[in-house]
Order: sequence, then structure tokens, then C-alpha cells
Amino acid sequence: MADQLIRATAADGGIRAVGVISTRIAEEARQRHKLSYVATAALGRTMSAGLLLASSMKRAESRVNIRIKGNGPLGGILVDAGLDGTVRGYVDNPGVELPPNKQGKLDVGKAVGRDGYLYVVRDVGYGYPYSSTVELMSGEIGDDLTNYLATSEQTPSALIVGVFVGAEGVTASGGILIQVLPKAARDETLVELLESRIAKLSGFTPLLQEGKTLPEIFQLLLGDLGLVMLPDIQMVHFHCGCSFDRVLGALKMLGEEELLDMIEKDEGAEATCHFCGEVYQANSDDLAKLIDDLRAESV
Ligand code: ZN
Repeated sequence: MADQLIRATAADGGIRAVGVISTRIAEEARQRHKLSYVATAALGRTMSAGLLLASSMKRAESRVNIRIKGNGPLGGILVDAGLDGTVRGYVDNPGVELPPNKQGKLDVGKAVGRDGYLYVVRDVGYGYPYSSTVELMSGEIGDDLTNYLATSEQTPSALIVGVFVGAEGVTASGGILIQVLPKAARDETLVELLESRIAKLSGFTPLLQEGKTLPEIFQLLLGDLGLVMLPDIQMVHFHCGCSFDRVLGALKMLGEEELLDMIEKDEGAEATCHFCGEVYQANSDDLAKLIDDLRAESV
């Protein structure tokens, strides 16, 4: 199935549900950043979460940044996702590998570390992003974002994300977000019912691996609660806005002296985009042109 995001409602609009398949996105990130197994799982989970959080924003240019900084060997994780269905991200130490945890699963919690913070920045496109921070609960990412939604956004929510990565790469990645909106949140039996069903869910990745589609997973959870699948399916993909021109812009800001030094010592400059791993090479001629521009501007 192509990477996609779908939306649904239940309980007369009192429940909002979003699901995302991000298998290709996680695989592209794995290849671009040469991620280990556990780093693939950590970044893949966070990228799914970014797309799910961005999906509830209103203005077309809205974006969400998720930064996770624990005390584990993976270092920090940064993901940038948009309502437009684009996402990119990286981890500080992509090569870190750890033995499986007690359940035999990739130990994302240990790789991220439990001591630290989750930062979420929402940029609605007006130029005044708002951010909030919560302490990490487990470093497993899904729990941490569920806690963020409950404390910072005060919406009873469940965010479940999963990635399955084997020797041949990522074979399943995705997530679901279920939120009980204010008008239904007073209905405690509804909230409890949802909580117990989500707790019973055998995990999201196994369902995807079994070949269950997002509508089938929503049916399992919300089928008897007036589930309505919204017709629009949104395609989602890994995308980074970096370009050679932007790299030249950044080099230009270093100033003439530094640029001359680069021409003399290295006969050019190399820059790697953190977000997507793309490598840009500027040769001596490119740098000389920047110096010409700087001189022309200073006259
Ligand atoms: Zn890039």
C-alpha cells in the first residue's frame, strides 16, 4: 500500500481518528541516513507521529516540529512534518545499535533514554510558532506523545506508532491517533471503553504486518461507535526543501575571507543537509561567484 493518511470520525463527531502508513517514508529515511535498526524504528515512529499531529492543523502551510532529547545513545531526534503530507527528519547518532528488549523488540526506549524532554512546536504559518515541552515517560515515543497530548493539549488521546524493520529494510510503518473531542470527553464510559480497547490492541505494527488496512484497524476500534471514514485519502512522502541555491546562500553568509580560505585550502566546499543527508558540492568557481556577488553588494 502507498504511504497515505486517512481520517475518520465516530460517536457523532465526538471522536476524531487519523491513521498513517509511512512504510516508504521510513525506508527512505533509513537509506538516506544509513540508520541502524533501532534508529530506523525511533525515527520512523517520530515521523508518523509528526504527520498525525500536523493532520489536525488548519492552514495549508502549517507544520509541526517534534524534538526528542533523551539521555540515551541515539542523542536527539528531530522531525519536521506538514499538513501538506511532507515529512523529513534525522537522529544525531544514526549508527547506534542495541540488543532487543525483554519482549524481543527493538529497544527504542533505551536508545532514546528515559531522562529527557519532548518538545513540540506548531507553526500555523503566521510567524508565531507555539511550543510546549513535556518530560519523557518511556522514550518509546508513542507513550510520550500520548502524554504530551493529554497534558499540553488537554485532549484525551491515544497515539500509537510502530515500525517493523528487518534485514531487507522497513516492511511496515505507520500510526494512528484517536482523540476524544471536548463535547464527548465528559462521557467517561466512552473514554474508558476506548482506553480498554486500545490497551487490548496487540500493537499496531503486527496488525499492519498481518495485512490489515487502516480502515480495518479503525473498524476494530470504532466499528460499533458510529465509525465514519472520510473519503479523502492524502498521500504522504519524505520531502526536504533543501537545494543547492540554499547551500550557496548559507556559504555566502560566511563572508569573503572565509570563502577565499575555502578556495585556497579545499578548492571548494561540501555541505550535507542534516534533514535528508543530501550532499552538496560547491567548487572554486561557485565560491568565486559568491565573492563577486559580495563585492558587488558592498559597492
Ligand atoms: Zn535536505
